[in-house]
Amino acid sequence: MSDQFLFVDRVAKRFGGLKAVGGDNGLSFAVTKGSFVGLIGPNGAGKSTLFNLISGFLKPTSGRVVLEGRDLSTCPSSEIASLGIGRTFQTPRAFHSLSTLDNVLVGSDNIGENLVSVLNGGWRSADAALKQKALDISARVGLKDRMSASVSKLSGGELRMLEVARQLMRSPRILLLDEPTAGVTPSFQVKLKNLLVDLNKEGVTLVVVEHNLRFLLEIADSVVVLQNGQLLSQGSPAQVRADPKVVAAYLGADNAA
Ligand code: ADP
Ligand code: MG
Repeated sequence: MSDQFLFVDRVAKRFGGLKAVGGDNGLSFAVTKGSFVGLIGPNGAGKSTLFNLISGFLKPTSGRVVLEGRDLSTCPSSEIASLGIGRTFQTPRAFHSLSTLDNVLVGSDNIGENLVSVLNGGWRSADAALKQKALDISARVGLKDRMSASVSKLSGGELRMLEVARQLMRSPRILLLDEPTAGVTPSFQVKLKNLLVDLNKEGVTLVVVEHNLRFLLEIADSVVVLQNGQLLSQGSPAQVRADPKVVAAYLGADNAA
């Protein structure tokens, strides 16, 4: 398909004897360019492992991840980020010795070998344009007033936004978000929802893992459901909600359409 963007092609990942993703035949699904995909499934279904496989933090035991025809399975993860794949972590990551602004700046792809100097507080000399970009992105995600604050002072929602801001420094073409609303207040969830909808309108392809189905099914245009590392269902939010396999295995009667 010409609009096929990201293709998970018979991917399997084993940890010792555990088949975390892919079962016997591997997991396959495609993400269309510009789409907003919700990735759901019970705890342990393999969602975070799948993100690690797509972003190159882990290599598949078998199968491939292909971005616009390029096999990522053989690329180092640093190179994968420069191809335009950004990702956040289920547990937000921050450099606690750095200010909020510096934590955003470290997402820049210009940083390269300067990382050590950044960690030593070397961002005083950061390029002005880069700093402005970090300030603009931070304002966009609602962190404008927190720029000089230590990250230890940030709320759960602010830490999630910081992770997104750091990824936006590289202007990703596809952004993988792992449980972005976990530990986030309702007002931050609204901010996050608006941000994701806007990014998607601007052309960023999104794949979002969420337990908060109300949040996700309202904004995703398609949904992939994993169970035991395998594809249980795939389709529009309405199709997935109505799929008896999904209702039985995951959504439960309360969430059925
Ligand atoms: P999810 O994000 O859907 O909750 P995960 O991808 O975190 O699921 O985990 C899928 C399965 O793989 C789980 O059984 C988990 O314990 C296991 N797993 C994940 N990462 C590792 C690892 N690094 N080593 C061993 N087992 C792992
Ligand atoms: Mg997970």
